[in-house]
Amino acid sequence: MKMEGLKNLPEAPISLLSTLVNKTGSWRNIKPVFVEKTAPCIDACPSHILIPHYIDRILRGTIDEAAEILLKDNPFPSITGRVCPHFCEGKCNRGEYDDSVSIREIERYLGDYIVNKKWKDSLKEQQNAKKIAIVGSGPAGLSCAHFLRNFGYKVIVFEKEDEPGGVLRYGIPEYRLPKVIVKKEIDALLREGIEIRTGTTLGKDISLDDLEANYDAVFLGTGAILERKMNIPGEEYLIEGLNFLKEVSLGKIPDVKGKYGVIGGGNVAMDVARTLLRLGAEVYILYRRTENEMPAITEEI
Ligand code: SF4
Repeated sequence: MKMEGLKNLPEAPISLLSTLVNKTGSWRNIKPVFVEKTAPCIDACPSHILIPHYIDRILRGTIDEAAEILLKDNPFPSITGRVCPHFCEGKCNRGEYDDSVSIREIERYLGDYIVNKKWKDSLKEQQNAKKIAIVGSGPAGLSCAHFLRNFGYKVIVFEKEDEPGGVLRYGIPEYRLPKVIVKKEIDALLREGIEIRTGTTLGKDISLDDLEANYDAVFLGTGAILERKMNIPGEEYLIEGLNFLKEVSLGKIPDVKGKYGVIGGGNVAMDVARTLLRLGAEVYILYRRTENEMPAITEEI
């Protein structure tokens, strides 16, 4: 009989017979089978970080070993340690007893240790002759750049904005992810030897043909910035959420007055609503379904 978890433990057997011969009764007839499984937190994490492994190293006081384990799967833990919706915690076994382990907070602690100690500087491996072009310096482009660089490739990142970081810099509000943290992570990439060329737009300053001709491989990490249309009259007068957050990041909207409606129940809508509140607006969230069905993570709502 397999025991799949605490919720479906088999009923405890009761011996109705004499235990004179079999002193221990009949319970020995049921023998649990232990199955090696991936920890549910690892399974739930999109990067499949070996969470129990690095927490174990922290408990033992070997922080550098913990950092090494974490960085294998997550190049920017000081960022995810602040903004990840922590899917891992929702599946934490400890939640069956009381509360889940605060995995994201531990990740943040370890991530800050890594960037402050400039730990990643020692990660570069042997050079090889191949040259890779990466278009876009958001999380996908920068992660790709970090891993390829540490495999020894020469990596050049092209970014159309004046500053690298993509959605990390222009899409996530300062109160959730301070720009200084993004800068520290990007500075670490520059020290790894990654080159970032800002103010360079694909299709205008460089073409895909040029990149294919001059590089051994090209990675396109331009992001998913097109927002879904609602197809309602007057939509052309609305400002899109990511555009609004970008304008605020650039300091173009220092404050706002009056009543504002935010349409949608996702994480971007919550970021917009909370940013508007901080700028001085009276904010109403308009969502087509119930609050329980809002796709934003609960702590944001
Ligand atoms: S906080 Fe996010 S990135 Fe970190 S372990 Fe949990 S799910 Fe993975």
